[in-house]
Amino acid sequence: MTSSADSSLLEDFLAFTLAGERPAAGSGNAASGVRWTWRGAGVLLLEPTAQPTHSVLASAGVHGDETAPIEMLSALVADIASGRAPLTARMLVILGNVDAMRAGARYIDDDLNRLFSGRHARFETSREAPRAIELENAALDFFDGAAHPKWHIDMHTAIRASVFEQFALLPHTGAPLARAMFDWLRDARLQAVLLHREKGNTFTHFTAQEAGALACTLELGKVRPFGQNDLARFAASDAALRRLIAGESARENAPLRVFTVVAQIDKHSDQFVLNVASDVPNFTAFSVGTELARDGDYRYRVSHDEERIVFPNPKVKPGLRAGLMVVDTTEATLASLD
Ligand SMILES: [Zn+2]
Repeated sequence: MTSSADSSLLEDFLAFTLAGERPAAGSGNAASGVRWTWRGAGVLLLEPTAQPTHSVLASAGVHGDETAPIEMLSALVADIASGRAPLTARMLVILGNVDAMRAGARYIDDDLNRLFSGRHARFETSREAPRAIELENAALDFFDGAAHPKWHIDMHTAIRASVFEQFALLPHTGAPLARAMFDWLRDARLQAVLLHREKGNTFTHFTAQEAGALACTLELGKVRPFGQNDLARFAASDAALRRLIAGESARENAPLRVFTVVAQIDKHSDQFVLNVASDVPNFTAFSVGTELARDGDYRYRVSHDEERIVFPNPKVKPGLRAGLMVVDTTEATLASLD
Protein backbone atom coordinates (compact mmCIF):
# COMPACT_ATOMS: atom_id res chain seq x y z
CA MET A 1 0.00 0.00 0.00
CA THR A 2 1.26 3.44 -0.91
CA SER A 3 -0.47 6.33 0.83
CA SER A 4 -0.70 9.72 -0.84
CA ALA A 5 1.94 11.11 1.51
CA ASP A 6 4.30 8.33 0.43
CA SER A 7 3.70 8.97 -3.25
CA SER A 8 4.52 12.66 -2.80
CA LEU A 9 7.65 11.58 -0.92
CA LEU A 10 8.76 9.87 -4.13
CA GLU A 11 7.11 12.18 -6.68
CA ASP A 12 8.37 15.41 -5.15
CA PHE A 13 11.04 14.62 -2.59
CA LEU A 14 12.05 18.31 -2.47
CA ALA A 15 8.54 19.60 -1.61
CA PHE A 16 8.01 16.73 0.85
CA THR A 17 11.27 17.56 2.58
CA LEU A 18 10.70 21.33 2.65
CA ALA A 19 7.24 20.73 4.17
CA GLY A 20 8.88 18.79 7.02
CA GLU A 21 6.63 15.79 6.37
CA ARG A 22 7.20 12.24 7.56
CA PRO A 23 5.96 9.24 5.55
CA ALA A 24 3.15 7.18 7.10
CA ALA A 25 5.41 4.11 6.86
CA GLY A 26 9.20 4.18 7.05
CA SER A 27 9.67 2.14 3.90
CA GLY A 28 7.86 0.69 0.93
CA ASN A 29 8.09 -0.32 -2.70
CA ALA A 30 7.85 2.17 -5.56
CA ALA A 31 5.98 1.43 -8.80
CA SER A 32 9.34 0.46 -10.35
CA GLY A 33 9.84 -2.19 -7.66
CA VAL A 34 12.63 -0.13 -6.09
CA ARG A 35 12.57 -0.44 -2.30
CA TRP A 36 12.64 2.94 -0.55
CA THR A 37 13.46 3.66 3.09
CA TRP A 38 13.07 7.12 4.58
CA ARG A 39 16.08 7.73 6.81
CA GLY A 40 15.09 11.14 8.18
CA ALA A 41 14.60 14.63 6.78
CA GLY A 42 16.06 14.79 3.28
CA VAL A 43 17.63 11.31 3.48
CA LEU A 44 16.22 8.53 1.28
CA LEU A 45 17.61 5.04 0.67
CA LEU A 46 16.73 3.44 -2.68
CA GLU A 47 17.47 -0.24 -3.32
CA PRO A 48 17.16 -2.01 -6.68
CA THR A 49 15.10 -5.16 -7.15
CA ALA A 50 18.21 -7.23 -8.04
CA GLN A 51 21.43 -7.59 -6.03
CA PRO A 52 23.13 -4.15 -6.21
CA THR A 53 26.29 -3.96 -8.32
CA HIS A 54 27.66 -0.77 -6.72
CA SER A 55 26.72 2.00 -4.29
CA VAL A 56 26.02 5.65 -5.07
CA LEU A 57 25.46 8.46 -2.58
CA ALA A 58 24.07 11.47 -4.44
CA SER A 59 23.75 14.68 -2.45
CA ALA A 60 22.70 18.27 -3.11
CA GLY A 61 21.72 21.25 -0.98
CA VAL A 62 24.65 21.00 1.41
CA HIS A 63 24.51 24.72 0.65
CA GLY A 64 20.81 25.52 0.98
CA ASP A 65 20.54 28.12 -1.78
CA GLU A 66 22.15 25.95 -4.49
CA THR A 67 18.80 25.04 -5.91
CA ALA A 68 19.36 23.55 -9.38
CA PRO A 69 21.04 20.30 -8.31
CA ILE A 70 18.44 19.91 -5.53
CA GLU A 71 15.65 20.08 -8.12
CA MET A 72 17.61 17.73 -10.38
CA LEU A 73 18.03 15.15 -7.62
CA SER A 74 14.38 15.39 -6.60
CA ALA A 75 13.35 14.77 -10.24
CA LEU A 76 15.71 11.78 -10.34
CA VAL A 77 14.00 10.24 -7.29
CA ALA A 78 10.64 10.52 -9.09
CA ASP A 79 12.07 8.87 -12.21
CA ILE A 80 13.64 6.03 -10.19
CA ALA A 81 10.29 5.48 -8.44
CA SER A 82 8.35 5.35 -11.72
CA GLY A 83 10.96 3.23 -13.50
CA ARG A 84 11.93 5.92 -16.02
CA ALA A 85 15.44 5.91 -14.51
CA PRO A 86 16.84 2.36 -14.16
CA LEU A 87 18.60 1.59 -10.89
CA THR A 88 21.18 -1.18 -10.43
CA ALA A 89 23.06 0.57 -7.62
CA ARG A 90 22.11 0.80 -3.99
CA MET A 91 21.55 4.53 -3.68
CA LEU A 92 21.32 7.10 -0.91
CA VAL A 93 19.82 10.47 -1.81
CA ILE A 94 20.61 13.35 0.54
CA LEU A 95 19.25 16.89 0.54
CA GLY A 96 21.84 18.44 2.83
CA ASN A 97 20.97 21.61 4.70
CA VAL A 98 17.16 21.51 4.84
CA ASP A 99 16.80 24.46 7.25
CA ALA A 100 18.92 26.64 4.98
CA MET A 101 16.95 25.43 1.92
CA ARG A 102 13.75 26.62 3.63
CA ALA A 103 15.38 29.97 4.40
CA GLY A 104 16.75 30.32 0.85
CA ALA A 105 20.19 30.71 2.42
CA ARG A 106 23.60 29.11 1.96
CA TYR A 107 23.57 28.25 5.68
CA ILE A 108 21.97 29.39 8.94
CA ASP A 109 24.93 29.73 11.35
CA ASP A 110 27.91 28.04 9.69
CA ASP A 111 28.88 26.58 6.33
CA LEU A 112 27.81 22.92 6.64
CA ASN A 113 30.45 21.91 4.09
CA ARG A 114 33.20 22.98 6.51
CA LEU A 115 31.86 20.96 9.46
CA PHE A 116 32.51 17.35 8.42
CA SER A 117 35.18 14.93 9.63
CA GLY A 118 34.48 15.88 13.23
CA ARG A 119 34.91 19.64 12.87
CA HIS A 120 31.27 19.99 14.02
CA ALA A 121 32.52 19.25 17.55
CA ARG A 122 34.10 22.73 17.57
CA PHE A 123 30.78 24.36 16.65
CA GLU A 124 28.52 22.88 19.33
CA THR A 125 26.02 25.73 19.34
CA SER A 126 25.83 25.98 15.55
CA ARG A 127 22.50 24.95 14.08
CA GLU A 128 24.47 23.19 11.33
CA ALA A 129 26.44 20.96 13.75
CA PRO A 130 23.68 18.38 14.42
CA ARG A 131 23.02 18.10 10.68
CA ALA A 132 26.71 17.42 9.99
CA ILE A 133 26.55 14.58 12.55
CA GLU A 134 23.33 13.19 11.01
CA LEU A 135 24.80 13.23 7.51
CA GLU A 136 28.07 11.63 8.65
CA ASN A 137 26.11 8.83 10.31
CA ALA A 138 23.78 8.40 7.32
CA ALA A 139 26.76 8.12 4.96
CA LEU A 140 28.62 5.66 7.20
CA ASP A 141 25.50 3.49 7.65
CA PHE A 142 24.98 3.50 3.90
CA PHE A 143 28.55 2.60 2.93
CA ASP A 144 29.09 0.07 5.74
CA GLY A 145 29.32 -3.27 3.96
CA ALA A 146 27.91 -1.71 0.76
CA ALA A 147 28.60 -3.08 -2.71
CA HIS A 148 31.80 -1.81 -4.35
CA PRO A 149 32.63 0.46 -5.96
CA LYS A 150 31.30 3.13 -3.63
CA TRP A 151 30.60 6.52 -5.19
CA HIS A 152 29.66 9.90 -3.74
CA ILE A 153 28.56 12.70 -6.07
CA ASP A 154 27.93 15.94 -4.14
CA MET A 155 26.35 18.57 -6.36
CA HIS A 156 26.71 22.32 -5.88
CA THR A 157 26.40 25.52 -7.86
CA ALA A 158 29.06 28.20 -7.61
CA ILE A 159 28.45 31.67 -6.18
CA ARG A 160 30.40 33.35 -8.97
CA ALA A 161 31.19 33.14 -12.68
CA SER A 162 33.96 30.78 -13.72
CA VAL A 163 36.40 30.51 -16.61
CA PHE A 164 35.32 26.84 -16.56
CA GLU A 165 31.58 27.01 -15.92
CA GLN A 166 31.32 23.44 -14.64
CA PHE A 167 34.09 21.87 -12.65
CA ALA A 168 34.73 19.24 -10.00
CA LEU A 169 36.80 19.08 -6.82
CA LEU A 170 38.39 15.86 -5.61
CA PRO A 171 39.23 15.47 -1.91
CA HIS A 172 42.71 14.45 -0.83
CA THR A 173 43.05 11.28 1.23
CA GLY A 174 46.43 10.00 0.03
CA ALA A 175 44.73 7.26 -2.01
CA PRO A 176 45.74 7.06 -5.70
CA LEU A 177 43.51 8.90 -8.17
CA ALA A 178 40.98 6.57 -9.79
CA ARG A 179 40.68 6.45 -13.57
CA ALA A 180 37.00 5.55 -13.12
CA MET A 181 36.40 8.95 -11.51
CA PHE A 182 38.10 10.82 -14.36
CA ASP A 183 36.09 8.79 -16.91
CA TRP A 184 32.91 9.74 -15.08
CA LEU A 185 33.86 13.44 -14.96
CA ARG A 186 34.43 13.36 -18.73
CA ASP A 187 31.06 11.62 -19.14
CA ALA A 188 29.46 14.46 -17.16
CA ARG A 189 31.22 16.94 -19.46
CA LEU A 190 32.89 18.72 -16.56
CA GLN A 191 35.46 21.10 -18.03
CA ALA A 192 37.97 21.06 -15.22
CA VAL A 193 38.81 19.19 -12.05
CA LEU A 194 40.59 20.62 -9.05
CA LEU A 195 42.75 18.31 -6.94
CA HIS A 196 43.10 19.14 -3.26
CA ARG A 197 46.47 18.45 -1.64
CA GLU A 198 45.34 18.61 1.99
CA LYS A 199 42.62 17.05 4.05
CA GLY A 200 39.43 19.08 4.30
CA ASN A 201 36.12 19.19 6.13
CA THR A 202 33.79 18.78 3.19
CA PHE A 203 31.16 16.08 2.87
CA THR A 204 33.10 14.40 0.02
CA HIS A 205 36.31 14.48 2.02
CA PHE A 206 34.48 12.68 4.82
CA THR A 207 33.09 9.90 2.59
CA ALA A 208 36.40 9.46 0.72
CA GLN A 209 38.39 9.31 3.94
CA GLU A 210 36.05 7.33 6.18
CA ALA A 211 34.29 5.06 3.68
CA GLY A 212 36.76 4.83 0.79
CA ALA A 213 34.22 6.35 -1.59
CA LEU A 214 35.13 7.64 -5.04
CA ALA A 215 33.94 11.10 -4.08
CA CYS A 216 33.70 14.36 -5.98
CA THR A 217 32.15 17.76 -5.40
CA LEU A 218 30.59 19.22 -8.54
CA GLU A 219 30.24 22.96 -9.16
CA LEU A 220 27.60 23.23 -11.85
CA GLY A 221 27.17 26.94 -12.59
CA LYS A 222 25.44 29.85 -10.93
CA VAL A 223 22.65 29.91 -8.33
CA ARG A 224 19.02 30.91 -8.94
CA PRO A 225 15.93 30.62 -6.70
CA PHE A 226 13.86 27.40 -6.74
CA GLY A 227 11.85 27.08 -9.96
CA GLN A 228 13.98 29.58 -11.91
CA ASN A 229 16.76 27.22 -12.93
CA ASP A 230 17.33 26.18 -16.51
CA LEU A 231 17.87 22.48 -15.84
CA ALA A 232 19.03 21.97 -19.45
CA ARG A 233 22.35 23.49 -18.41
CA PHE A 234 22.75 20.58 -16.00
CA ALA A 235 21.71 17.90 -18.49
CA ALA A 236 25.18 16.41 -18.97
CA SER A 237 25.74 15.86 -15.23
CA ASP A 238 22.19 14.56 -14.86
CA ALA A 239 22.68 12.10 -17.72
CA ALA A 240 26.04 10.91 -16.35
CA LEU A 241 24.54 10.41 -12.87
CA ARG A 242 21.67 8.43 -14.40
CA ARG A 243 24.16 6.25 -16.31
CA LEU A 244 26.16 5.75 -13.12
CA ILE A 245 23.19 4.52 -11.06
CA ALA A 246 22.03 2.34 -13.97
CA GLY A 247 25.45 0.69 -14.20
CA GLU A 248 25.91 1.89 -17.78
CA SER A 249 29.33 2.79 -19.13
CA ALA A 250 30.38 6.34 -19.97
CA ARG A 251 29.17 7.74 -23.29
CA GLU A 252 30.97 11.09 -23.42
CA ASN A 253 34.73 11.64 -23.51
CA ALA A 254 34.85 15.40 -23.11
CA PRO A 255 38.18 17.22 -22.67
CA LEU A 256 39.08 17.73 -19.01
CA ARG A 257 41.65 20.15 -17.60
CA VAL A 258 43.26 19.24 -14.28
CA PHE A 259 44.38 21.78 -11.69
CA THR A 260 46.16 21.11 -8.42
CA VAL A 261 45.93 23.30 -5.33
CA VAL A 262 49.32 24.86 -4.54
CA ALA A 263 48.34 27.38 -1.86
CA GLN A 264 45.48 29.03 -0.07
CA ILE A 265 44.85 32.65 0.81
CA ASP A 266 44.13 32.94 4.53
CA LYS A 267 41.97 35.52 6.26
CA HIS A 268 43.55 36.21 9.62
CA SER A 269 41.63 39.29 10.76
CA ASP A 270 39.10 41.91 9.77
CA GLN A 271 42.01 43.90 8.27
CA PHE A 272 42.06 41.41 5.40
CA VAL A 273 42.14 42.94 1.92
CA LEU A 274 41.77 40.95 -1.29
CA ASN A 275 43.36 42.81 -4.21
CA VAL A 276 41.13 41.35 -6.90
CA ALA A 277 37.66 42.41 -8.04
CA SER A 278 34.97 40.92 -5.83
CA ASP A 279 33.37 39.31 -8.89
CA VAL A 280 36.55 37.90 -10.44
CA PRO A 281 35.65 34.61 -12.16
CA ASN A 282 36.92 31.33 -10.71
CA PHE A 283 40.10 30.12 -12.44
CA THR A 284 41.20 33.64 -13.42
CA ALA A 285 44.96 33.46 -14.03
CA PHE A 286 47.59 35.72 -12.42
CA SER A 287 51.30 35.86 -13.21
CA VAL A 288 54.24 35.44 -10.86
CA GLY A 289 54.79 38.29 -8.39
CA THR A 290 51.19 39.54 -8.31
CA GLU A 291 50.13 40.49 -4.77
CA LEU A 292 46.62 39.09 -4.33
CA ALA A 293 45.96 39.70 -0.64
CA ARG A 294 47.26 41.42 2.48
CA ASP A 295 46.29 41.21 6.14
CA GLY A 296 48.57 43.03 8.61
CA ASP A 297 52.05 41.66 7.87
CA TYR A 298 50.67 38.79 5.79
CA ARG A 299 50.95 38.99 1.99
CA TYR A 300 49.90 36.53 -0.64
CA ARG A 301 52.00 36.78 -3.80
CA VAL A 302 51.85 34.48 -6.81
CA SER A 303 55.01 32.31 -6.75
CA HIS A 304 54.46 30.08 -9.81
CA ASP A 305 54.67 31.32 -13.42
CA GLU A 306 50.90 31.27 -13.46
CA GLU A 307 48.39 30.60 -10.69
CA ARG A 308 44.62 30.67 -10.94
CA ILE A 309 42.33 31.78 -8.14
CA VAL A 310 39.33 29.69 -7.08
CA PHE A 311 36.59 30.59 -4.57
CA PRO A 312 37.93 34.05 -3.63
CA ASN A 313 35.74 35.31 -0.79
CA PRO A 314 36.99 38.12 1.44
CA LYS A 315 33.77 37.96 3.50
CA VAL A 316 34.55 34.64 5.23
CA LYS A 317 35.05 34.70 8.99
CA PRO A 318 38.66 35.32 10.17
CA GLY A 319 40.54 32.02 10.46
CA LEU A 320 38.98 30.60 7.29
CA ARG A 321 40.39 30.42 3.78
CA ALA A 322 39.57 33.35 1.55
CA GLY A 323 40.64 31.68 -1.70
CA LEU A 324 42.47 28.72 -3.23
CA MET A 325 45.35 28.98 -5.69
CA VAL A 326 45.79 26.28 -8.34
CA VAL A 327 48.18 25.44 -11.19
CA ASP A 328 47.55 23.41 -14.37
CA THR A 329 48.71 19.79 -13.93
CA THR A 330 46.65 18.20 -16.72
CA GLU A 331 49.38 16.22 -18.49
CA ALA A 332 51.15 14.92 -15.39
CA THR A 333 47.91 13.91 -13.67
CA LEU A 334 46.36 12.11 -16.62
CA ALA A 335 49.69 10.30 -17.25
CA SER A 336 49.71 9.13 -13.60
CA LEU A 337 46.37 7.31 -13.78
CA ASP A 338 46.77 3.54 -13.95
ZN1 LIG B 1 28.05 24.79 -2.60
